[in-house]
Amino acid sequence: MGLPDKIETRLFINGEFVESSNGKTFDITNPATLKHVATGTCMKPLSRTQTVLSLPLRRLFPSWSELSPDQRAQYFKKLASLIRQNNDELGALEAASMGKPVGAFFDAYACASKWDHYAEAGYTVQGTTSVQTPGYLNMTLRQPYGVVAAIIPWNVPLLFLASKLAPALIVGNTVVLKSSEKAPLTSAKIATLVQQAGFPPGVINIITGFGNVSGSILSHHMDVRALSFTGSGRTGRIIQAAAAKSNLKQVFLELGGKSPAIIFEDADIKEAVKQTAYSIQWNSGQVCMANSRVYVQDTIADEYIELFKQHFQKEVSIGDPLDKSTNHGPQADEVQHKTVLSYLESGKQSGGELLLGGAAPSDREGYYIQPTIFKNTPEDAKIMKEEVFGPVVNINVFKSEDEVLAKANNTEYGLYAAVYTKNIDRAIRFAKGLEAGTVGVNCTSPVTGRDMPFGGFKSSGSGREGEPLYSLDNFLETKSVLIKLS
Ligand code: NAD
Repeated sequence: MGLPDKIETRLFINGEFVESSNGKTFDITNPATLKHVATGTCMKPLSRTQTVLSLPLRRLFPSWSELSPDQRAQYFKKLASLIRQNNDELGALEAASMGKPVGAFFDAYACASKWDHYAEAGYTVQGTTSVQTPGYLNMTLRQPYGVVAAIIPWNVPLLFLASKLAPALIVGNTVVLKSSEKAPLTSAKIATLVQQAGFPPGVINIITGFGNVSGSILSHHMDVRALSFTGSGRTGRIIQAAAAKSNLKQVFLELGGKSPAIIFEDADIKEAVKQTAYSIQWNSGQVCMANSRVYVQDTIADEYIELFKQHFQKEVSIGDPLDKSTNHGPQADEVQHKTVLSYLESGKQSGGELLLGGAAPSDREGYYIQPTIFKNTPEDAKIMKEEVFGPVVNINVFKSEDEVLAKANNTEYGLYAAVYTKNIDRAIRFAKGLEAGTVGVNCTSPVTGRDMPFGGFKSSGSGREGEPLYSLDNFLETKSVLIKLS
């Protein structure tokens, strides 16, 4: 299916679609064709005291929080079903705004599944009791904050939207979510489905626009008591500072990565090649946990690298994201494209050996980048230290365990790491030794455990998300109640 005749781009506030109050808009361009797709709506810069968001949110919170989880869940289930029915349109909107190939589009079903999961999760929230203090019955209550906010990136918008909205709402909060200005169309479409599902007006609000305006309104907002953010470390730091300057809201940060994958000589080489190549190529490398640094043991390096090259040459099909046979779309926009190209130039200057790619394809317009392999890039090169967010892998050769563990951990990031080996002792040594929130043993990103916490060590973030309890915890206050017995 192609794009719908009418594309929704307005802000969804208090149950209604509204234009920007100062008429400010921005253009959404298809990164594959460079043609105009839609016009997005900006928020008006608002001072903290005059924000339009405060009133509906504060007014709505008590009635939503007083519903039972079952009552809230009815809306979730309707929404999940509507999202599945609109899978094709959502896929086309994502393809047109940020270039994700429809053939690899799983996002709507994953989003619907989150709403279904959290529809059942409300009653799992429980406090504790204690009779350890003589003369007292003490207990904790887990209560919603009231108004919370979520700010999401553009690379997998539907999944992040559901991962933040659903847990926040099922425990009784009302939410304002800001989508990325690079990919606001699926979030706006979800807003139309929220309306159809009959959610009480104002319980879910979905805005978009540029981060330094719309995002900043939320991070500085005095009524927002918790904010869950997924995006870059740069923005995460700005949000943390805004929270400190305003009301010290709780901030949860899911940030970037520079993930290592380590391939030992006893690994299943073919599987390791297939998985590590997919990790850095899927979504055109625009994935926080993509293994952008691969370390391969010297004894198998030539074979691994040759197979990796062949994999990129044979398996990657660059093309129109609306064509089902394409598995490699463009980068999301001109800014991302220019950023990746500049990292490629820096990689070429760094002393590493360029084995494949290294440029935009010469035979097509659009913001495409050839899948690229560098070999033996110096460890201190910019392209080894910074997140490129493109289909660019550095494959470096190592000899010993100690050497490779030190290199893998020599990064400010710590989101995901992988080790491929059949030696169980070594696998466990690396699972313990790698500084990352998730470690894959004989598997790599984007594999995650649905019931495992996800988040970063070091500068890759703070806090954890995940089912069943981690994400719910992020949206709950804990209160101690002390009852003195007479
Ligand atoms: P980004 O930080 O540029 O933007 C993310 C969101 O923050 C957008 O909605 C943006 O408008 C908003 N924003 C920008 N400036 C802001 C400000 N001053 N105040 C408030 N909000 C602001 O990130 P991006 O380019 O959209 O996404 C890519 C980044 O996200 C990469 O670094 C990637 O690794 C990271 N990411 C992390 C995870 C994870 O789970 N850890 C998942 C996906 C993406």
